[in-house]
Amino acid sequence: MTIHPNLINSMPELVAIRRDLHAHPELGLQEFRTSDLVARHLESYGYKVTRGLGTTGVVATLSNGSSKRSIGIRADMDALPILEETGLDYASKTPGLMHACGHDGHTTMLLGAARSIAERRNFDGTVHLIFQPAEENFGGARLMMDDGLFERFPCDAVFALHNEPGLPFGQFALREGPIMAAVDEARITVNGLGGHGAEPQETADPIVCGASIVMALQTIVSRNIHPLDPTVVTVGSFHSGSASNIIPERAEIVVGIRSFDPEVRDELERRIRLIAERQAESYGMTATVDYQRSYDATINHKAETDFLREVATRFAGEDKVVDLPRPFMGSEDFAYMLKDRPGSYFFLGGKVSDDDKSLHHPGFNFNDDLLPVGVAFWTELAETYLRPA
Ligand code: ZN
Repeated sequence: MTIHPNLINSMPELVAIRRDLHAHPELGLQEFRTSDLVARHLESYGYKVTRGLGTTGVVATLSNGSSKRSIGIRADMDALPILEETGLDYASKTPGLMHACGHDGHTTMLLGAARSIAERRNFDGTVHLIFQPAEENFGGARLMMDDGLFERFPCDAVFALHNEPGLPFGQFALREGPIMAAVDEARITVNGLGGHGAEPQETADPIVCGASIVMALQTIVSRNIHPLDPTVVTVGSFHSGSASNIIPERAEIVVGIRSFDPEVRDELERRIRLIAERQAESYGMTATVDYQRSYDATINHKAETDFLREVATRFAGEDKVVDLPRPFMGSEDFAYMLKDRPGSYFFLGGKVSDDDKSLHHPGFNFNDDLLPVGVAFWTELAETYLRPA
């Protein structure tokens, strides 16, 4: 692994930035402090900085030489609504908000790369560094694109990474084609008729009907979808009632749905609606289904994934680069950037011990030892992509 000496010297500063971001997490579309800090650093490195894309997004641009080629690299900046339980001295100062997905680390790695790319000036073309808001919930990538991201900052290719504490430290996990799933959510409301718990014959019990719907939903993946089409239907919440002697008026069921194939996605929606409505009808009730489509599947492009593999292999060695046999069922709004521009998204392993907590866990903390790896790799990727002729 080639890590430039200047980079080693800048590590304490980068660790300080990462821990400062960790102590001051902000939810999606509220990353005002974070994006201001990011923009000020980028300006000090000599970048042309554009603020306010998709509310709090920042783009930093640097050109060198005469080539018209350009590369985009994205980092996400938002935190999660989780009460931190790490006990760190730089733990979140905002109770109930936490950098539990390592976006503090992603932002810092790209800031470090910004500095290293600017200091070395070893490229011919234009680098666009994209700091996006609201990856977790509100589709910050799409909001930046709605504000003209790729029209104002044309990128020949775009790249992004996510740290992954479940993969060995320093491992580059790539995948051509699908790498992250599409995600949708269905809110089912079962409308019954409430009454006394001792007189069920006078009521229409939405709990019994809801339980039946929950069980019937389990048949979609097992009976309706091809066994080789990766799909998840998870009932994540079921709320109804308040006491044993009351039959409630309604039940609320929230379902999370993951898929890859657009036709499978359509079929999942069709079956969920049908099962909820017809099950309710069979119990003499009605069910309404509010079905919201969220992020599309993240599909990596072949040429850019091949390029990523080539650079990663030279950078980290063949034993540190793997092609994932299966995609992850999680989701990522970088999907939208990859629908507009060619590019590739990958995972950078951060695991050092079996006690490491997973992403979105209240005890998770981004591994600072990944900072120099990410900084050096982004620098190398940009310099290789924009190699002087
Ligand atoms: Zn994340």
